[in-house]
Amino acid sequence: MENFNSVIVRYSEIGLKSSHVRREMERRLIKNLEEAYRNEGVYFLRIVKRASRIIVYTSDPKVREVTKLVFGIKSYSPALEIETDIEELKAVALSIAEGKQGSFAVRVRRITKEFPLTSIEVAKLIGFVIKEQTGRSVNLNDPDQEILIEIIGRKTYVTDERIEGYGGLPVGTQGKVLALISSGIDSPVAAWLLMKRGAHVIPVHFKKTDEEEGGFMRLVSVLKRFSYGTEFKPIVIEHASTLRNYLQKGAREWICLLCKRRMLILANKVANELGASAIVTGDSLGQVASQTLENLEVESRCLEKPVLRPLIGMDKEEIVRIAKEIGTYDISITYDVACPFVPKKPKTKGKWNQFLKIVRKVGANDLIDVCKGA
Ligand code: ATP
Ligand code: MG
Repeated sequence: MENFNSVIVRYSEIGLKSSHVRREMERRLIKNLEEAYRNEGVYFLRIVKRASRIIVYTSDPKVREVTKLVFGIKSYSPALEIETDIEELKAVALSIAEGKQGSFAVRVRRITKEFPLTSIEVAKLIGFVIKEQTGRSVNLNDPDQEILIEIIGRKTYVTDERIEGYGGLPVGTQGKVLALISSGIDSPVAAWLLMKRGAHVIPVHFKKTDEEEGGFMRLVSVLKRFSYGTEFKPIVIEHASTLRNYLQKGAREWICLLCKRRMLILANKVANELGASAIVTGDSLGQVASQTLENLEVESRCLEKPVLRPLIGMDKEEIVRIAKEIGTYDISITYDVACPFVPKKPKTKGKWNQFLKIVRKVGANDLIDVCKGA
């Protein structure tokens, strides 16, 4: 659609909610769209809800790219809004059809039902006019151009474009979660998946090297664009000196477990301070030798907050596909430096009793205090 005066936004799961929850989510979705457009410099007049659609009044082409960043949307179409009038509809649909070649299909939806003709009747009528006037053929299964018409009360939207959104729920509708983000491929994807489900994500990085922190900050700026409507403020916690200290005191092969457990224990504290309900990590079972179930058990034993691991059952290929799609992949492969603390043979099947001995040896009782009385 070259010329459009509006964007018609269709939401996904929000439509399945009870009316009270749905209203809340619709409000949130509109707020998030407004924030995204403002931050990304998209010019728009206003955003309104019309039946089960949200209508954005704009003709700024940037709206295509920016609407995609907002979760809770099934699809959207830059469209021409006209009065619901069959003669005007014929003229507008025809003008859209005249710009293209090959076969076409007309698809009509009446979002509200007061219009006297049925959807099929309108589709036939408009299809007939286009065929007569342009000589183009109808192909309902695999058309070269699809003309979409949505009738909502006194307004009708006409378009030949439909862009898929990421679905999910509007960010900010599902509470707060702390996301542990390195500079690697996995953790930004894990954080993104929680945002997609509506969580307000707070990015947290444990600093081991300057390079890794640099990667983290770049990842944050990419992820921030998916979080309009919530504050996306990164937190960096010093980690290297403590790890060095553990090593000096003889942690050796246990260093990765101590490292992970310290991150989770501190994240748990920060989550309490910020009112977050969970922690999310990018662990994927068996992806590297140290991501075993036994190690995950030792790392997260007795933690107060649940640790969410949305990638746990995903293959690397699937994770990479998402990372490329959302724009974090290139940063990760550039900045994901090898961890300077990883030993030749990290522990792969840690046992809690052995871990306790190591904790005492390196004087890291703060890592097991939470288990007292548990
Ligand atoms: P990633 O690709 O996310 O770096 P990984 O495959 O390298 O993960 P691990 O090093 O075992 O796996 O880390 C597991 C998870 O621990 C990460 O996905 C991330 O959530 C968290 N994590 C690791 N390092 C850091 C760090 N420096 N700061 C914050 N979180 C981290
Ligand atoms: Mg990593």
